[in-house]
Amino acid sequence: MADVKRRASVAVDVGGVQVGGGHPVVVQSMTNTDTADPEATARQVAALAAAGSELVRVTVNTEQAAAAVPRMAERLAALGVRVPVIGDFHYNGHLLLAKYPACAQTLAKYRINPGNVGGKRHDENFRAIVEIAIRNGKPVRIGVNWGSLDQTLLTGLMDANARSPKPRDARAVTMDAMVESAVRSARLAEDTGLAHDRIILSAKVSGVQDLVDVYRALAARCDYPLHLGLTEAGMGTKGVVASTAGIALLLQEGIGDTIRVSLTPAPGGDRTEEVVVAQQILQSLGLRSFVPQVTACPGCGRTTSTFFQEMASDIQRYLRERMPVWREQRPGVVELRVAVMGCVVNGPGESKHADIGISLPGTFEEPKAPVFVDGKLVTTLKGDDIVPQFLRILEGYVEEHYRLV
Ligand code: SF4
Repeated sequence: MADVKRRASVAVDVGGVQVGGGHPVVVQSMTNTDTADPEATARQVAALAAAGSELVRVTVNTEQAAAAVPRMAERLAALGVRVPVIGDFHYNGHLLLAKYPACAQTLAKYRINPGNVGGKRHDENFRAIVEIAIRNGKPVRIGVNWGSLDQTLLTGLMDANARSPKPRDARAVTMDAMVESAVRSARLAEDTGLAHDRIILSAKVSGVQDLVDVYRALAARCDYPLHLGLTEAGMGTKGVVASTAGIALLLQEGIGDTIRVSLTPAPGGDRTEEVVVAQQILQSLGLRSFVPQVTACPGCGRTTSTFFQEMASDIQRYLRERMPVWREQRPGVVELRVAVMGCVVNGPGESKHADIGISLPGTFEEPKAPVFVDGKLVTTLKGDDIVPQFLRILEGYVEEHYRLV
């Protein structure tokens, strides 16, 4: 594991998952189903948990959604899924949590956006949610978002800035307002009686440099665990790269105790992609291991067939599909390194560095694929079924090298 000095923070227990306090950075995700449909939401929560999400958040926006939360939890229990489920509240959280006590009891944590708890009755509504959290023994995340920043606070700081002899630009004041909103809300929660180790903070923005600046400032102001993520990261490559850039920069500085990658899925796309990306960020930084890593060369003119790309993708998919079972039975397998290389130039060398590697034939090479195990050539595969042959060798390696628990 990488030697990154983590920022000191208190540990918060979220339904049995420890966030902060030096515990491994936790991966979380959020559903996009209608929470009022307990069956569909339970299915998606289960899929996110199977992909490796350690916490899953659902929106609780209506009375129907609040009423459905306990039924969704029953469905999850019937499926054998034990992941803690967090409720995301805006505008009416104080009303829904009070009116639906079973919902309040079922959820493992409440997310409160201090910019969305009500104008004139802001503090009163905020305190109402915190009191329900205290009664139910739940932690809260105070999640500031610059798209819904507390306007009274922002206006006050902007006015004070305008009166100062050296006014700063609006961006700097907005960053200050976000940090201030999070820290003041945490103080209000503690003044209401919530324990210091029942609070997680976040301050989400949609630009990478803004994210880095606001989290550095927030990290310096408190020892609450920090939930990290770029909000509205976007679709496809843009969303993945922007989230990775922002989250990785901060994690490398030891900032961040739980992460969520907020990707916009393509229509009909797979919601679990955000879990895979979050895990890959942590694994690429050497902070955690979730799945055996496949080293594959990019391919070039020496390997013009798509067979090599298909094989690399088949192996990657196979490893992910095996993980739910291996995670339970052979947890050490996450350290396995597999190489799938396209030709003789770097193939044998890279394969020897991996635990198990295969070097496929390039365009003008003999149609055979040497397989290396722990740096030694063990066999050479030929024929149309190289992939299944290689997967059998890989399964044998896993059985032999990773203890059954
Ligand atoms: S290993 Fe061979 S196919 Fe792959 S990038 Fe290098 S030269 Fe190209």
